[in-house]
Amino acid sequence: MRNKIVAGNWKMNKTLNEAMELAIALGEHRSEIADHVNVIIAPPALYLGHLEMIENPCFSLAAQNCSQHTYGAFTGEWSAVMLKAMNVHFCILGHSERRQYFFETDELIGKKVDACLEQEVTPIFCCGETLEQRNEKHHFITVLHQLEKALFHLSGDQMKKVIIAYEPVWAIGTGVTASNDQAQEMHAFIRQSLSNHFGAEVADRIHILYGGSVNAANAAELFACPDVDGGLVGGASLKVKDFSEIIKAASHA
Ligand code: PEP
Repeated sequence: MRNKIVAGNWKMNKTLNEAMELAIALGEHRSEIADHVNVIIAPPALYLGHLEMIENPCFSLAAQNCSQHTYGAFTGEWSAVMLKAMNVHFCILGHSERRQYFFETDELIGKKVDACLEQEVTPIFCCGETLEQRNEKHHFITVLHQLEKALFHLSGDQMKKVIIAYEPVWAIGTGVTASNDQAQEMHAFIRQSLSNHFGAEVADRIHILYGGSVNAANAAELFACPDVDGGLVGGASLKVKDFSEIIKAASHA
């Protein structure tokens, strides 16, 4: 039985004071977090060191990105080595905004996955199709190619350490959520694809999160789908009330 994961992607939002307030306010809801739920927060990277200082936090920390390199002349970048040294145990990779605005390819994202795994930082690998690809009925093949190019070079043992987030691009920040059926269908397809390549034992262990306009009203039904192991939440993770309701939904799933 897989536990549930609720991850909040704060993107490029909040001042440091606001970020600290939000993280501390979240701690006030600690008693509502069931044992089978892991909460992860991905603040702007600048704040990771500050959030890491919060005593006895109810969440783990994630970066929203990292370099494929370890050290060196890469101005503006940070590496998985640095994340590990700051007790940041998770890293979102391949978010659609990184793919769209920073031209990240699956090949590059695959290298970032390798860099994270080498440092025992868990990648949260994002995949998902555009609306055009779905309308053309290319959504399954699009996601399969993303998995193949970025993850299928891994060993089974490495793959077990990766979290996948299925985030249809048309659902991110739009208020349009995939239906429960659409989410479950794609998550089952992803798990089957992983099973075909890595074997059922590996595929059954892997957490597949849904992302795309998850909110307090739709989280419970999405998280009740058998292959939906929690959510990667953008906008709703910026409001403590909404995010804690989503965590509650995972706790009751
Ligand atoms: C995201 O950015 O990963 C995301 C899912 O955003 P939102 O929840 O706002 O759609």
